[in-house]
Amino acid sequence: MQVLFMYHQGNNGAPVPENFRLEDTSLQPDLNEGEVLVRTLYLSVDPYMRCRMNEDTGAGYLTPWRLSEVADGGGVGRVEASRWDGLAPGDVVTCFNWPWATHGVLKGSALQKMDPQLVDGHLSHLLGAVGLTGLTALLGIREKGHVTQGANQTLVVSGAAGACGSIAGQVGRLDGCSRVLGVCGSREKCAALVDELGFTAAINYRRDDVDARLKECCPDGVDVYFDNVGGAISDAVISQMNSGGHVVLCGQISQYNKDVPYPPPLDPRTQETLLRQGITRERFTVLSYMDQMDAALLQLSTWVRSGQLKVRETVVDGLENMGVAFCSMMEGGNIGKQIIKVSD
Ligand code: NDP
Repeated sequence: MQVLFMYHQGNNGAPVPENFRLEDTSLQPDLNEGEVLVRTLYLSVDPYMRCRMNEDTGAGYLTPWRLSEVADGGGVGRVEASRWDGLAPGDVVTCFNWPWATHGVLKGSALQKMDPQLVDGHLSHLLGAVGLTGLTALLGIREKGHVTQGANQTLVVSGAAGACGSIAGQVGRLDGCSRVLGVCGSREKCAALVDELGFTAAINYRRDDVDARLKECCPDGVDVYFDNVGGAISDAVISQMNSGGHVVLCGQISQYNKDVPYPPPLDPRTQETLLRQGITRERFTVLSYMDQMDAALLQLSTWVRSGQLKVRETVVDGLENMGVAFCSMMEGGNIGKQIIKVSD
């Protein structure tokens, strides 16, 4: 069996693949009562993991990764043996603390059994569009976006071609926004947003004049802003928001490699705009809505299966490439959800 360790911490600076180390090890031979042997199928890398590389993650619900302990995160796999009543060999299971390993012995009580039909057999979707990032997009829009059918609202999404952003824009459209604009980091991503995912328009923040393109693409101003990135892009979007608008404060990835608290302090002019225009900007955490997750997963599954919600993924093969995939995602190498395929 192979496992991946994280062996470098620090609040400032971009992560590099060398922060991770692959080792061969063996599993304990026998299962104890309540334990389950799982084989890993897919693993997830997510921006919040950058915070887990710090001694203080800045979030009560996140523990730091410990040096020379196996890293963990979202995962999906199959049960190979079970001494837990609720699970049997062959079952598909997920967990938020799946070890970065080809196999694992986990507590049955920590695993969630999933129906593969929910994703028409595309089990990696359980980590993305019909998993935590899809839930983040749907519940973020529904809980903090105040989108109303027929209200002719304009939605802007930053980090729009990523896992959460690509779904958030589509949910906004399905829920009734008349115009959905995506901000992302390449021409290829802009094309995917407009040609495949039904966004009205897209801005490449690395090349375009963001202020000018926002004005051009949002002639009636911005009503809802799904913010994945923070920093200068968010300052530009918020400066063009209508009074009574709503910011969904989903994430601030542009600041994650810096030693700043979460959420990072706002530019004073942006803070002033929020106050003057009566724009809401409440912190959003998907894990605060556990009671809504089953219904929300069913909604996402229905939309994906009917083709109303399109799914993009960037899949990298091999546990040994987890570190590379994580660093690539942090720099924009992914379109849609970044997935690591560990076994068939
Ligand atoms: P993504 O799939 O969106 O991947 C991250 C993307 O961020 C990259 O592809 C890159 O795209 C973009 N990015 C990286 N650095 C910058 C930068 N400096 N400026 C602008 N864009 C940048 O990740 P997720 O969808 O998993 O996460 C998106 C956001 O949602 C994150 O902020 C994350 O923390 C947050 N999140 C929040 C949750 C919650 O409960 N509130 C739950 C899950 C995620 P590009 O090429 O466009 O630069």
